[in-house]
Amino acid sequence: MARKLKISHLFPELLNLYGDSGNILCLSKRLEWRGIDCEVAEVHVGDRPSLSDVDIAFIGGGSDREQRIVCDALLAEHDELKAFVDDGGVLLAVCGGYQLLGESYLMGEEKVAGLGLVDMWTDRKEPRLISNIVIESEISPQPIVGYENHGGRTHLGSGAKPLGRVLYGNGNDGASGEEGCLAGNIVGTYIHGPLLPKNPGVADWLIARALERRFGDATLGPLDDSVELAANAVMAERLLSGKVKED
Ligand code: GLN
Repeated sequence: MARKLKISHLFPELLNLYGDSGNILCLSKRLEWRGIDCEVAEVHVGDRPSLSDVDIAFIGGGSDREQRIVCDALLAEHDELKAFVDDGGVLLAVCGGYQLLGESYLMGEEKVAGLGLVDMWTDRKEPRLISNIVIESEISPQPIVGYENHGGRTHLGSGAKPLGRVLYGNGNDGASGEEGCLAGNIVGTYIHGPLLPKNPGVADWLIARALERRFGDATLGPLDDSVELAANAVMAERLLSGKVKED
């Protein structure tokens, strides 16, 4: 019987900065190319999402205003999300969505409660951290490349580990050298871009974790990633060689 994965795209109309929705297209295509069926279900404000049959959930980034709307909507569904991640559901959250995973984040002067799914919290500082970014991470054979733009500074508690180490750019707070979080099957990151098309190793890590959970078998056939890997390599080389100075 054909294998099938279900992807839940949380609040696509509100959190979709810098092409974040491209991550969904990338996951769908990489499944399709391997003969794995894929269904994408969008969750909008006011919906009562059920994640019980979902394999991968995705939440993108957005402005503070949109993030606040989503935070309120997600807090109302806290138990559903907690049950999903506790059961090993795969969750990818980018930037504004990433910040919501923690205990709290600072919106202006107001400390807003987050979902508390990961031991982390976010405050904010001037200036905004705006840069291309490269990190190294255990979940990707290639350096992970992308773009970051955030006022938030995220701090990991002892119960969380970073997604990776910053090689270029700022990452969680511009000081720790850490970027993102990795907690079981939860990946949080400041990397827009969109993340997955430029970093096929990350896409396949997420897919493999979801296949393992659903079917007990993470085997993934190879794909021709020459174009994706060339794009990745150009950016990594450009930024890490020191030849191009960016502001
Ligand atoms: N509003 C958040 C911040 O500035 C997230 C921004 C984003 O998603 N790019 O920190």
